[in-house]
Amino acid sequence: MFDTLQDRLGSILNGLTGRGALSEKDVAGAMREVRRALLEADVALEVVREFTDKVREKAVGATIVKAIKPGQMVVKIVHDELVALLGTDGVGIDLNAASPVVIMMVGLQGSGKTTTSAKIAARLTKRDRKKVLMASLDTRRPAAQEQLRQLGAQAGVDTLPIVAGQSPTDIAARAVQAAKLGGFDVVILDTAGRTHIDEPLMAEMAEIKRRATPHEILLVADALTGQDAVNLARNFDERIGITGLVLTRMDGDGRGGAALSMRAVTGKPIKLIGTGEKMDALEEFHPGRVADRILGMGDIVSLVEKAAESIDAEKAAAMAGRLKAGKFDLNDLADQLRQMQKLGGMGGIMGMMPGMGKMKDQLAASGMDDRSIVRQIAIISSMTKAERANPDMLKHSRKKRIAAGSGTDAAAINKLLKQHRQMADMMKAMGGKGKGGGMMRAAM
Ligand code: GDP
Repeated sequence: MFDTLQDRLGSILNGLTGRGALSEKDVAGAMREVRRALLEADVALEVVREFTDKVREKAVGATIVKAIKPGQMVVKIVHDELVALLGTDGVGIDLNAASPVVIMMVGLQGSGKTTTSAKIAARLTKRDRKKVLMASLDTRRPAAQEQLRQLGAQAGVDTLPIVAGQSPTDIAARAVQAAKLGGFDVVILDTAGRTHIDEPLMAEMAEIKRRATPHEILLVADALTGQDAVNLARNFDERIGITGLVLTRMDGDGRGGAALSMRAVTGKPIKLIGTGEKMDALEEFHPGRVADRILGMGDIVSLVEKAAESIDAEKAAAMAGRLKAGKFDLNDLADQLRQMQKLGGMGGIMGMMPGMGKMKDQLAASGMDDRSIVRQIAIISSMTKAERANPDMLKHSRKKRIAAGSGTDAAAINKLLKQHRQMADMMKAMGGKGKGGGMMRAAM
């Protein structure tokens, strides 16, 4: 598990309390830890250097306020500096141009370009009531155009009809023309990627840009990109001139260092983040949260907000009442499991908690993974109402029927019942203290 930067700096600096101001020497030790934390978070080396220099300047000579420990103070300086560097909150896509507004998506193969194109199109269609046309300019990968067409069909977004044999630039020009004629507000051009940056790719992107005159050029990059992030962002920005960044796979285990690297070398805003494979897994970028994540303080704010969004308040209140009364039956357990699924499953929850990313494997090993959540819900769904309310009546023949119904076996059912008993005991203890509200509340 990661130590948080706060802990590490604490052990170096907290002995200093009351010495007036931080000296060059005090800060040097702290900066070694900051440097290590940033590298562990996958921030590119050259960005780390620049960043620690800046923080050092701010920290040396800073007066130690009595109420605050020096370690906390340095963490605060580092955090604020990270937020400042990561940019402003919620810079969305800019549609302030004559229709059709052209958005060009660029990036390496597998970065999530096609998925993100469709996510953005779906959002502009549903939320902003825009008429959107998508076109795939990837003529190299045979399935690419079809993939976009399918995503478009899923999301209810129009895609440009595929014409075999056309060049990427011709498709781009045709897309813009079709959008003009069809009265579309926005055209999204999903360009071809490569496994690495090369000159033909850059030349193709430059030519598409010339023909389609995009208003936004968004570089889509995997948040797990490590030291390559700088190179990638710099190349695309210098050659094509990007207007913003989209980081995908922010739902993964990574600590988001690529965000800092790419933003630092291009100065371009991170406009959106991808947080999953589904069409609605697209979120605004919040620098404060990513700063917390890089520092290993956990994305608690996100978790709390997400939980607040998806937990049905009434249900929670009813559950709290039941818990206080010492009741927690299998219906309640099924509710809790569904709640966890809504929050993105174990992975989604763990990814947002400090140091929890690493625990995922251990949980999977103990059987508490996303598949087991699905299995457990299936088991409970195969029970009768009476059985759910009173698990004690589940004897051999009933278990056999439930196993058949849920495609599991008696062992899986026994395991679920055991887990339920343990949780019911835990809930009863918590409910007794008047802190009911369910597992999610407990996790926070
Ligand atoms: P492209 O080659 O750049 O067009 O990449 P794709 O859009 O085909 O995406 C590659 C894979 O990454 C697909 O399996 C996507 O479902 C997945 N993907 C894209 N964005 C995200 C994301 O934000 N989170 C996760 N977990 N997976 C993603």
